Amino acid sequence: MGKDVCLLGGTFDPVHHGHLIIARSIAEQCNFEKVLLIPAASPPHKAPARASAEHRLAMLRLAIEGESLFDICDIELTRQGPSYTLDTLTVLRKRYVDQIGLHWVIGADMLEGLPRWRRASEVVRLARITVALRPPWQDRLEEIFAGVEKELGEAVVSGLRQSTVRTPLIDISSTTIRQRVGEGKSIRYLVPEPVRQYIERHGLYRQADRNAAPSHRHP
Ligand code: ATP
Repeated sequence: MGKDVCLLGGTFDPVHHGHLIIARSIAEQCNFEKVLLIPAASPPHKAPARASAEHRLAMLRLAIEGESLFDICDIELTRQGPSYTLDTLTVLRKRYVDQIGLHWVIGADMLEGLPRWRRASEVVRLARITVALRPPWQDRLEEIFAGVEKELGEAVVSGLRQSTVRTPLIDISSTTIRQRVGEGKSIRYLVPEPVRQYIERHGLYRQADRNAAPSHRHP
């Protein structure tokens, strides 16, 4: 029997320390040996990414350099059309043998929208949804669970409660980083240093962000 696989999908526009810290914390607490980072080509219910897929992928590579916990899975970048989690999990389910559990990590901000994911009840059967805390949503978790329960039922919410992990509260978002770059402010310490240098070298996010409000959030 193989080891379970932990999956963190996102736009990573750009990857930041919030992503990396929650993923590491979950891996430690749940004994995952690997976390696969899965950049979305085109998030179905979010504004399109500002940086190209190539830039986002390059930043992810820099962010995880020398860290054996992480791997990148480009499955959504090589697929046409919106990056539905359902499609990604269907492919990954076939790739890994049946005994291997798939764990799909989401931040608490994404939980509220879960019932509106494409064929959500199938998604929660294909993978165990693991919830990471995220400020300020962690304070509304009970209310959010109640909303999800109405749409997906008690059994699903009971599973979600069990797989909510007490991750450190990291108040960093890609939106903030894009905004700060657009305003000429420093993003030092918010992203890994090689990522900061890449953003600077390639002049990413310098234009004001037309999607400045976090476009939360729904894969
Ligand atoms: P944006 O601000 O552009 O919406 P984001 O910071 O939420 O981006 P994504 O790449 O969209 O980053 O996030 C991928 C996944 O990681 C999502 O499930 C999101 O909830 C989670 N996540 C991102 N940042 C954090 C954080 N600081 N704490 C907890 N979860 C996070």
